[in-house]
Formats: sequence, structure tokens, C-alpha cells
Amino acid sequence: VSKIGVLTSGGDAPGMNAAIRGVVRAALSEGLEVYGIYDGYLGLHQNRIEKLNRNSVSDIINKGGTFLGSARFPEFKDEKVRQQAISNMKMHGIEALVVIGGDGSYMGAKKLTEMGFPCVGLPGTIDNDVAGTDYTIGYLTALNTVIDAIDRLRDTSSSHQRISIVEVMGRHCGDLTLMSAIAGGCEYIVTPETGLDKEALLAKIKEGIYKGKKHAIIALTELMTDANELAKYIEQETGRETRATILGHIQRGGQPTAFDRILASRMGAYAVELLLGGHGGRCVGIQREELVHHDIIDAIENMKRPLRKDLYEVADKLF
Ligand code: ADP
Repeated sequence: VSKIGVLTSGGDAPGMNAAIRGVVRAALSEGLEVYGIYDGYLGLHQNRIEKLNRNSVSDIINKGGTFLGSARFPEFKDEKVRQQAISNMKMHGIEALVVIGGDGSYMGAKKLTEMGFPCVGLPGTIDNDVAGTDYTIGYLTALNTVIDAIDRLRDTSSSHQRISIVEVMGRHCGDLTLMSAIAGGCEYIVTPETGLDKEALLAKIKEGIYKGKKHAIIALTELMTDANELAKYIEQETGRETRATILGHIQRGGQPTAFDRILASRMGAYAVELLLGGHGGRCVGIQREELVHHDIIDAIENMKRPLRKDLYEVADKLF
């Protein structure tokens, strides 16, 4: 391999820039040429590809977002579209591709690999929902953002003896909700892993009120229910003012924390190492503090993220 490409795809995450920088600088120091592809698979299909040098990635290690841009491009599921993308890369002499994104982006990388174009995936998403890694790039930064929001909600909820629901991102993964609930001292946790039992939740809130709690903060994962409707239900049943706060895209932005910058830098360099070693079709992870790589197809099809039962138990004890 002498020329590689790099792109960011799907939902953006703080630390993606640091990951691109890691890939670019590591590749250059190994004597490779690196090409940046703009706006993920969309730009790959449209042949928006540019050669990058050391300075292309200057002053971005501390910046949120991704300077290459990201996109959702469902057309990439079409084989002809992917064939065009491969032709575009071949035209530039690119022989391998690093894809930074979530599990959807991994699907695209998997399919390119199956078509004979080797890809390596780096987990870039705040959702922490990628198999084969304990942490995804951006997750811990987002966690701090959520905690900051919860702290503010706690102040005002306490002053007004109000019940607050905070809706946290994560798609179908409750990690961000669970961890932010523990760190933010939320009283109630509703995630895809716990499911939503409205009556049980209400009973617990009533128990809290009986115990003399001044406020209640409910951490809820997105896509599970309408948070505003749930707030109305709780208000009706408890007689306490209840409000939902949907954090939304706030969670995706901001400066990456030290952990995410280091993780992204290490993973970027590791991706280059794998490609140089002739490993295609791999995805990078960190497990028990060690960088690891797995078969991307196996990761998507067979690997499951472990359920953090121990952490749910801790949260429950601290209620
Ligand atoms: P994320 O990578 O954050 O999970 P998405 O699920 O939106 O985000 O996936 C990002 C992009 O990956 C999609 O817009 C599409 O271009 C590509 N992609 C997703 N699923 C597939 C698939 N089954 N085949 C090919 N490409 C896919």
C-alpha cells in the first residue's frame, strides 16, 4: 500500500478531527500518500477527493466536528454507486480506505471490503454503540456535555421542586444515558436496555417524593418515547410540575476531551499500521486499555456489546 484515503461518515463526533490527523500524520511518517474524501460516502461517489499534507491537519486536534465533513448517503447501499466510488479511488491510485464513523458507516466499509477494496474502520460516534470496543471516539466528550446540562437542570429543578426528564442521545444504546445518570446523580434511568415501564417509573417517582426528594431527574434515551408526552403523564399523575429537556445536537459538538484526543490519535496511527501490515476489512477498538482489531464483518454480524448490569445495579443502589 502506498496511497490511502480517509473519510468521516454518519453522525459526527468530537475527536473525529483528531482521528483524521492521526491517520494523516502516521501515514506521512511511514512514507504513504494520504487523500481526504469530503462528506463521507457522498463525496466518495462524487469524486471529491484531495491530497492532504501535514498542514492540512494543523490546528484541528482540539476542534469538534470534522473538517472533512460528514453525510448520510443511503444510496451507498446500491452496488453500482459503490462501484463508482471504488473507480474514483482507483483513479487517484488509492488502494485502501480508513472510514471513521458508526455502525452504519461500518456497513459501507464492510461492503467495499467484500468488493475487494480493503477498508479499516475507526469507531467515531458519541453513541458508544459499536461492537468490539469499550469506547468510541467522542463518547466521553459527549458524556461531559450531558453531565454539564444535568448539573444545570438539577439547580433549577431543586429550586422549583420540579421533575425533569432529560433526553440523551445514543440511538439504541443506553451507555451515554446510564453513565450520565450515574455521574449526574439522576434518580431514574430509562434506556433501551431497561425498557420503559411507565407505571413502575411513576411508582418510583412517588416513592422519591414520599422520601422527601426535592426534585427528580429522569435520564431517558432518545427514540424510546415522546419525552414531552411522558412529562405530561408524570405531571398529571403526581401533581408536580414536570418538564422535558431534549439535549439534541448540543451533545455532538464541542472540544474533544483529552481522552478522546488521545484515543483518536492512537486509533488513527493504529489504522495505518494495520493497512501497512496488509490487514483489510478490520475495525479498530480499545478493550481493557489495549488497542485491538476485529474482522469488520464479524463485528457487525456477531459481536454484541456487553450489558453493563453492574452499573445499573450501582445506579439503583444510589437512588
Ligand atoms: P453512523 O455511521 O453514525 O451509524 P449511518 O447509520 O447514517 O451513521 O451510516 C452512515 C452512512 O453509511 C450512510 O448514510 C450510508 O452512506 C452508509 N451505510 C449505512 N448502511 C449501509 C449499508 N447497509 N450499505 C452500504 N452503506 C451503508
